[in-house]
Amino acid sequence: MSTASESRTPAPGQLTFVAPRRAKPARHLADLTMAERKAVVAELGEKPFRADQLSRHYFEKLNGDPALMTDLPAAAREKFATALFPTLLTPVRELTTDRGTTRKTLWRLFDGALVESVLMRYSDRTTICVSSQAGCGMNCPFCATGQAGLTRNMSTAEIVEQVVAGARALAAGDVPGGPGRISNVVFMGMGEPMANYKAVIGAVRRLVEPAPDGLGISARGVTVSTVGLVPAIGKLAEEGLPVTLALSLHAPDDELRDTLVPINTRWKVAEVLDAAWKYAAKTKRRVSIEYALIKDINDQEWRADLLGKLIRNKLVHVNLIPLNPTPGSKWTASRPEDEEAFVRRLEFHGVPVTVRDTRGREIDGACGQLAAAE
Ligand code: SAH
Repeated sequence: MSTASESRTPAPGQLTFVAPRRAKPARHLADLTMAERKAVVAELGEKPFRADQLSRHYFEKLNGDPALMTDLPAAAREKFATALFPTLLTPVRELTTDRGTTRKTLWRLFDGALVESVLMRYSDRTTICVSSQAGCGMNCPFCATGQAGLTRNMSTAEIVEQVVAGARALAAGDVPGGPGRISNVVFMGMGEPMANYKAVIGAVRRLVEPAPDGLGISARGVTVSTVGLVPAIGKLAEEGLPVTLALSLHAPDDELRDTLVPINTRWKVAEVLDAAWKYAAKTKRRVSIEYALIKDINDQEWRADLLGKLIRNKLVHVNLIPLNPTPGSKWTASRPEDEEAFVRRLEFHGVPVTVRDTRGREIDGACGQLAAAE
């Protein structure tokens, strides 16, 4: 018998779009719209208002255990526990750094698959970085997750539960800085969110819908990051969800991007940027271009210049990420002077640019380091 943590290591450049078929995680309240929750409650022979009550427990009080929902009749609690609150995530390990304000959690899913999420508390916001797939099929050679291949898609509730767990820790005062709330959710953990489209959209809806339907996080605080699955970007623009789109570009020319982001062999730089501008026009949201600076690979001034020319005068912002080296990789972060020159070149073209911090690096919790091994 094969275990869920098994996934085939992909050959260089090989893309995996379809997740291996596996048993699905059990249905959870967070998978369902309010109308669907009411239908399940009715099937269980309970009054429709219980759907609202259960939803408030979960999304407002962050309570996912019906045994603790003492305003429900005891018999109903058991029924609801089985039908709507299966255990989806079990913590395996927790690592903290930055005096406890950065914490990475390794989760085991029902079938043994492993994923990670990272909570980062700053003075003005708290961000949780979530996984959308166990593993990833996009095979970017500088990313630890990509090297392990795709195990399976996560369900909507498995994604939402990562956020709820983080919100619970914050509300309980387990994160230094006093009780707090999650302001930002970034789909920058393991997986390619646009390759698990339906579950990810469901999760985004649960995150932004106000209670009792969902967590009530501002859509502006939600960022979906993608290698550039062009048709999915087009679809996302039509959802009426003004989330921020982050595009992992990493190279302005097809020759290099074909190797750094293998999806580029399907959709070229020009096509993916075109999809990004359409997204910006439709949602009025500034698109974030992610660019990991890799020493002597993509950090030349002429590439900064080419990038600047491609994106100047657009609703855009560039996020430079010093490469977080992954085990066994020959690549490393750019020299400080090359990073500075890259920034200056982009600024010369009038492109807003920031260099991302590398929070969580010491605990392998920074971008591209999530490998979820035990
Ligand atoms: N699959 C999605 C989301 C996950 S990765 C995507 O690729 O956008 C989130 C960001 O981290 C992406 O921009 C990704 O390219 C970047 N990243 C991956 N590995 C990295 C590494 N080793 N160092 C720095 N950034 C990395």
